[in-house]
Amino acid sequence: MKRIDSIEPFRVMQLLERAKQLEQEGQSIVHMEIGEPDFPSPALAVEAAERALHKGKTYYTPSTGLPQLRERLASWYEWKYGVSIDAERIIITPGTSAAFLTLYLVLLEPGDDVLLPDPGYPCQRNFIRLAGGTPRCIPVGAETAFHLNPEALITHWGKNTRAAVVISPGNPTGTIVPEEDLRKLANVCRDLGGWLISDEIYHGLTYGCEAACALSFDEDCIVVNGFSKRWAMTGWRVGWMIVPETLVDACRRVIQNIFIAAPTISQYAAIAALDAEEEVEAMRRQFDERRRFLLASLKELGFVIPVEPKGAFYIYADVSPFTHDSTTFCWRLLEEEGVAVTPGEDFGHHQAATHVRFSYATDMKSLAEGVERIRRFLCRIRKEC
Ligand code: PLP
Repeated sequence: MKRIDSIEPFRVMQLLERAKQLEQEGQSIVHMEIGEPDFPSPALAVEAAERALHKGKTYYTPSTGLPQLRERLASWYEWKYGVSIDAERIIITPGTSAAFLTLYLVLLEPGDDVLLPDPGYPCQRNFIRLAGGTPRCIPVGAETAFHLNPEALITHWGKNTRAAVVISPGNPTGTIVPEEDLRKLANVCRDLGGWLISDEIYHGLTYGCEAACALSFDEDCIVVNGFSKRWAMTGWRVGWMIVPETLVDACRRVIQNIFIAAPTISQYAAIAALDAEEEVEAMRRQFDERRRFLLASLKELGFVIPVEPKGAFYIYADVSPFTHDSTTFCWRLLEEEGVAVTPGEDFGHHQAATHVRFSYATDMKSLAEGVERIRRFLCRIRKEC
């Protein structure tokens, strides 16, 4: 197969396009498919970007990022997680997406594989393929809170496995890896001679608990994070990765060639965003309010949610009481009631046909309207049975 033929489309984009088309035709659509915060970026970040622009900060930065941002992130890790990191190990990238692509280009040779959870964030698989590696998607279910656990790692680790990815809080599930499990995952990867890659992009968006940072257990773990979610800065394209010293130069060379550097204005905005704790906290509280409302409403409607999602802004619900074809379910829900949600097939194969992802990156009023429309839809499809 040609490499490009192995790159899957992001199917929800088709659904989103149809939703936009319906909106243009005058229909009201409730968007519960969105994967980005609906809040504005922190005012401090916007002001810093304006200042940078007016001061003419429009030139390339070093490939690994502005030294001030790397230093500021190092002190942020000290404050947030109590871990001390040399700023030299922090590499700024154009979004976490670029960090992942860079990492896989550095770590993988043709034939190498990486263990991923299924369901999981779909772009991961494609970054690995683009770097010539093989994604090995391991089915995970409610028993392990939809995460790879240490036993799964040991069972599935093969002679060509180079790394395992943990995403906590998870997309599409919003569930969190318990601290003890993260510690064990780090140990298992070290013992097996591979890398633990911890995607921590939803850190800070947690409700009633905290997600642990993998670097608290092993300084050789690779941590990837960014400003898109916790700081509501998706369009600015700034992320970072923290890698062991031995990988810094290789990452730098890849970035120099492929991206040159992350956007300069955005990096100045990112430095200021790290001081915007009040705004971030206000956003987090609103997400939590929506989460509690949607969780209770979906359960009341008959959706099965076996593990409470305590992070990100997603609920991954089992729709088997209503259907075994979640894709048709989602398309009908959109066409008949104007509610956009994401079918399980976007996140993998395991139990995909019986799961749907709801996003609560939408205001409360719309969520309440969405719930009423879903109620009407379920009544109708029940009558069809
Ligand atoms: N990782 C996860 C789990 C995500 O859900 C996303 C975006 O939805 C990303 C990474 C990519 O984020 P960005 O490239 O905007 O930093």
